[in-house]
Amino acid sequence: MAGEARSDCLFCKIVAGEVPADVVRETETTLAFRDINPQAPSHVLVIPKVHHPDAAALAAAAPEIAADVLREAGEVAAQEGSESYRLVFNTGTGAGQTVFHAHVHVLGGRGLQWPPG
Ligand code: IMP
Repeated sequence: MAGEARSDCLFCKIVAGEVPADVVRETETTLAFRDINPQAPSHVLVIPKVHHPDAAALAAAAPEIAADVLREAGEVAAQEGSESYRLVFNTGTGAGQTVFHAHVHVLGGRGLQWPPG
């Protein structure tokens, strides 16, 4: 059920401390940790601690926590020294989503091309 931790979800396991992660920030509702396969010099994922399959589902079910995730994404960028940065929400397998627990990629530390691939 959305909102409850899922035993088959990698990011729920990271929240529970069952899988290690390089955590850079934590709040009551969010966790931010370095992506294991970085696509930029600074590549951090910000997730809600509660389980929702993607960002839109999170925003529909818990808009205040979606706002927390966005606020934390900005805090991560500032902490990383990224004056310019990109937030990415891959949604659906066709867009490259591989982990079905809402998360935003915070990419920075290099020039970023537009449009993305
Ligand atoms: P998605 O492809 O948009 O769903 O993003 C999932 C991200 O999680 C990918 O960029 C992966 O590199 C990253 N990832 C997968 N496993 C781990 C992990 O154990 N720790 C940190 N990041 C991970």
